[in-house]
Amino acid sequence: MEGQLFTVKFLDGNIPVLAEDVTKATKVDPILSKVHQFVLNGWPVKCDQLPGVFKPFYHRRDEISCEEGCVLWGARVVIPKMFQKFILDLLNWKHLCMCNMKRLARSYAWWPKLDADIESKVRACAVCQRIKSYSYKATYTPMGLPKASFSNIYFCEDKKQYFLILVDSYFQWVEVKPVQKTTVDKTLMC
Ligand SMILES: [Zn+2]
Repeated sequence: MEGQLFTVKFLDGNIPVLAEDVTKATKVDPILSKVHQFVLNGWPVKCDQLPGVFKPFYHRRDEISCEEGCVLWGARVVIPKMFQKFILDLLNWKHLCMCNMKRLARSYAWWPKLDADIESKVRACAVCQRIKSYSYKATYTPMGLPKASFSNIYFCEDKKQYFLILVDSYFQWVEVKPVQKTTVDKTLMC
């Protein structure tokens, strides 16, 4: 019970939705108010005695409890429908990647289809999509052991200026020289 109380207070401290707001919203939420009653008075013997919307709760019934009028799943507060959009907006506030948003949500809150709602939120968020398009995964390609110093030679180009890059892997030394052309004779003259 200590843990459950802590969760509600934790929610107060970290997310600007007060436990008493959740309590009030739970009372008027058509699904959560029933779940609250089931927790207090007992669940039906069989799942098929309930409408489908209660199934996610029924399957978790051994881990569902109530505290200060809020419904909890384990240490997570079950968020009434009224506050779900608000919580999604909060989770999206810093435009974390989808995985981080889910990880953060799992620390505090839950409702059925929470993961799907986070996915939809991120897909619909122009900022998240722009950030995603900037990030890419670089492929690591080991160079292998060279036969001699400065045996690794590369060219790179930046704003029409070419650079000759000489890498001495033995001494971990890099030399960069600006060059006009990347032809063999110009390279040998460097
Ligand atoms: Zn976003």
